[in-house]
Amino acid sequence: MRTTILVINAGSSSIKFTVFGHHGDTMFAVRYAGQIEGIGTEPRFKVQDETGAVVHEDSWANPPPGRGHAYALEQLANYLDPKLPEHKLHGIGHRVVHGGPDYSAPVVIDDAVLRDLEGFVPLAPLHQPANLAGIRATMEFLPGVPNVACFDTAFHRRHPPVADRFAIPEEFYAEGVRRYGFHGLSYEYIAQALPAVAPEIAGRRVVVAHLGNGASMCAISAGRSIDSTMGFTALDGLPMGTRCGQIDPGVLLYLMQEKGMAAQQIEDLLYKRSGLFGLSGISNDMRTLLASSDPRAAFAIDYFVYRIIRETGALAAVLGGIDGLVFTAGIGEHATAIRERVCRGLAWLGLQLDPEANAGHGPRITTPDSRVSAWVIPTDEEQMIARHTFAALDGR
Ligand code: ADP
Repeated sequence: MRTTILVINAGSSSIKFTVFGHHGDTMFAVRYAGQIEGIGTEPRFKVQDETGAVVHEDSWANPPPGRGHAYALEQLANYLDPKLPEHKLHGIGHRVVHGGPDYSAPVVIDDAVLRDLEGFVPLAPLHQPANLAGIRATMEFLPGVPNVACFDTAFHRRHPPVADRFAIPEEFYAEGVRRYGFHGLSYEYIAQALPAVAPEIAGRRVVVAHLGNGASMCAISAGRSIDSTMGFTALDGLPMGTRCGQIDPGVLLYLMQEKGMAAQQIEDLLYKRSGLFGLSGISNDMRTLLASSDPRAAFAIDYFVYRIIRETGALAAVLGGIDGLVFTAGIGEHATAIRERVCRGLAWLGLQLDPEANAGHGPRITTPDSRVSAWVIPTDEEQMIARHTFAALDGR
């Protein structure tokens, strides 16, 4: 029997899924992929096969409140069930944003694990509940198939203590107020891809810029995460589509004390109305901003590039120098102009852009004699989850 792994990435209003078939020892090839969007409003279900051709589309009236994820997963299970007879599901891998202080590796989910993960909801109130709803739904509609939780925080759990703490009294650290770091599945995928794609920087001092709608950067030394721009939540560090990135906590005190803003209003401001969207007043989407002639769009881009350059300097310093810079995720993989501006701003580090290679999206985008090399490497968090799920179920 061939090994088939279902990967679920459940967000607040969408569920992305990928069905992987076994391909070699640790690689998996996509058989089906798709998403259910609009959960809570007007759910739309779309499936593509391994060639990218759309093979199924559906929509349905929304079920009673609170059952959105369960109902969506039931539709997915009903769709997949007849398709997988001779490729019985070996396991289901779930992206889980927060593993708290203790989960530093993927784990097979049982009731005790699920209770632990529920305990981390206050640490990631916007993401963790959706992730857990996805897990509960697959337990209900695909019974008997083991579920594995793969954490966005896990790759960062061995940061040195100085990178893991805030300078506030230790009691807060003890209860979990720590600099966790996120996008760990993406960084781990890139770290594992380096020997094949960028062998000259594999095992060396590398800064990876994950620039998507969510954006962060990670310092990797000898394949291990040393520090990250994200901290306690996925708000810190770089400005993002709608999230603010680094902000002086005094601003929050001002908003509360002088403007009378409630916690919910501040959460809405920092998560949904800030970043590229807040700066430009136009859009959270980099393509729209790059195409705009509005000076506010140009300023939002200037700010984004400035912060990437600034954080690269900081991460290069904690690494004691830098050998390579990797761009990944939507903006990192596609936005030639952003990569060009970042690389030119880092020329002082010994990084010399090759404009032609950059226009062709690399993979190597620096000149052959550039002391520090820069690369474009597409990330694949789902592939990473499939590998982890297979490994966690080894022998079952
Ligand atoms: P998510 O964090 O939602 O997974 P992605 O990694 O898909 O996000 O990245 C989305 C971002 O990538 C958006 O800002 C989008 O504008 C940007 N992007 C995608 N393609 C391009 C492109 N060709 N040029 C510039 N930006 C792009």
